[in-house]
Amino acid sequence: MLSVIIPAFNEEQNIPLAAKTLSELFAKENISYEIIFVDDGSKDKTYLEICKAAENDENIKGISFSRNFGKESAIFAGLEEAEGDCAVTFDCDLQFPPSKIVEMYKLWEKGYEVVEGIKSDRGGGSFMYNLFAKSFYRIISRFVGVDMQSTSDFKLIDRKVIDALLSLPERNTFYRALSFWSGFNSTQIEFKVEKRTNGKSKWNLTKLTKYAVSNITSFTTAPLQLITVIGAVLLCFMAVLGVQTLVRYLCGFSAEGFTTVILLLLLIGGSLMMALGIIGYYIARIYEEVKGRPRYIISKRTGKK
Ligand code: UDP
Ligand code: MG
Repeated sequence: MLSVIIPAFNEEQNIPLAAKTLSELFAKENISYEIIFVDDGSKDKTYLEICKAAENDENIKGISFSRNFGKESAIFAGLEEAEGDCAVTFDCDLQFPPSKIVEMYKLWEKGYEVVEGIKSDRGGGSFMYNLFAKSFYRIISRFVGVDMQSTSDFKLIDRKVIDALLSLPERNTFYRALSFWSGFNSTQIEFKVEKRTNGKSKWNLTKLTKYAVSNITSFTTAPLQLITVIGAVLLCFMAVLGVQTLVRYLCGFSAEGFTTVILLLLLIGGSLMMALGIIGYYIARIYEEVKGRPRYIISKRTGKK
């Protein structure tokens, strides 16, 4: 059985459409399936629509979070609920072409354990968004060591991978990169991102920045090493300046250089603060992990089980 996991945050218009499109598709292709809608604390009638869809189709079930926990949590909640032999994560806005699910499924039947959906181009999105998304992926690709530029959350994973991902003890996860990290037998298929038909993208610059920073820090400690490198560079710089200052002192020109002092103080003060901030951020992350709070809280559920 194939489980389709669909996170939904304020998607009341898209739920019926997604449910209908997918169930018709799977019926036509003769694939046994379940659709799991995860309502990520929506403020509109999303959950009501999920209930309606679940009434009409016994293959549909839904869970609802007590508040907005973010797409990442929604995906993991869906994986937790999934009973299928493999699972596909899909977007509620149908920006991923549904027909590709069937292609992924066929590849899975051939024995692949991870089928990555790779964007051939990004549909829509403002200039700022695209610029931001590009630089974010460039940074993260560097750290992860995989080209993340055109990866997406649209992928199919085998039961083995689902169980492996669910057994990870950490709270702060980055699904998109974790499937690469897990290292199973994988393949890729390309797809074109469609334009959103109903509703708006749930991302804004603040949310994206948070997402980027949180993913970078959950995947790598490189910023911490960067501090050491900056420290070393500054030290070399200071050694040179130190010698120059001493020479000047010995030659009797020591009264000058007040501007240099101010600039140096600012530079050192600034970099120290930055370094402290980065270290502090990692400590905060450790603190969050140590608290061990659940990733999400489920308040309602509908459908079989
Ligand atoms: N989503 C979610 N929680 C959030 C934000 C988004 O579950 O806090 C869902 C949303 O309903 C959609 C998917 O994640 O199904 C992708 O969101 P969106 O289309 O807004 O992102 P984009 O396609 O612009 O990257
Ligand atoms: Mg979208």
